Amino acid sequence: MISSFPNDAYRGLIDSHFHTQSMLQRGMDVFSIYDRLFSCGFAGGIDIGCTHDDLPERKKLLEPYGFILLAGAMGPWEAGKSEVKETDIEAEFSKTKSMDQLQTELGILRQNLEHCKARFIGEIGLDYYWEYGNHEKQHLLFETQMKWASEMGLCVLIHDRDADSDVANVIRRLGPDKGGVIHCFDGSQTVLDAALERGYYISFAGNLTYKNNDNLRQMLRCVPMDRLLLETDAPYLTPVPLRGKPNTPEYVVHTYACAAEVLGVSLEDLKQRVLENFNGLCSR
Ligand SMILES: [Zn+2]
Repeated sequence: MISSFPNDAYRGLIDSHFHTQSMLQRGMDVFSIYDRLFSCGFAGGIDIGCTHDDLPERKKLLEPYGFILLAGAMGPWEAGKSEVKETDIEAEFSKTKSMDQLQTELGILRQNLEHCKARFIGEIGLDYYWEYGNHEKQHLLFETQMKWASEMGLCVLIHDRDADSDVANVIRRLGPDKGGVIHCFDGSQTVLDAALERGYYISFAGNLTYKNNDNLRQMLRCVPMDRLLLETDAPYLTPVPLRGKPNTPEYVVHTYACAAEVLGVSLEDLKQRVLENFNGLCSR
């Protein structure tokens, strides 16, 4: 392990949100990392989709890893290229898409969700920072998939960037009954209130460890312990002290250590709590 933690520290760890394919695209030796982690007793987590058609391939890739659960969705980036400002986002997200094309892609996704028996719909949500497509297209994707979650009896994994009040409104309006997870929670009280009301879990990522994020660490203390999850969002948001390297699920241990310190609990107690919460999410 690159991390300075003993192998035992990985026993029972959950990483509630990571992107295997995005790590592979960066040339990372993901499967060696997974093999090492699982040999240390890593408890697994959720592999998150990026496109409407990536589920079958991810299912095949992750078949040997029974503790990695599959989520599939169209995130806000699939609404297409920014119509407001230019971005340097990856090429596959840079096309302008018509409403018809989005409907076609939603149809493909729905089939894939059913055929691949995805356990979660995610990540879905709104991103007004990058302004993918336009708000109408982002809402079409977000709200369609929120309704599917109710129909299919699945939990959702929510992405929110600079869209707090719209995300909170959709959560209040469209549930779903089984709730879900606010991924990479950014400290918004508006979103926190709506999410707790609807029975969601709140997942903190590596930015919890960043020096200027006192506000986020403060918010960590406001989340009920039985709703707390932790994640990497690998390969993004690498925690201190490894910031600058691409992130992997093994680095989630740094975020656990930071959260344990903020909450004044032991690493072992926090691991136990997050594992129980994750099992609670999975058994909904
Ligand atoms: Zn993500």
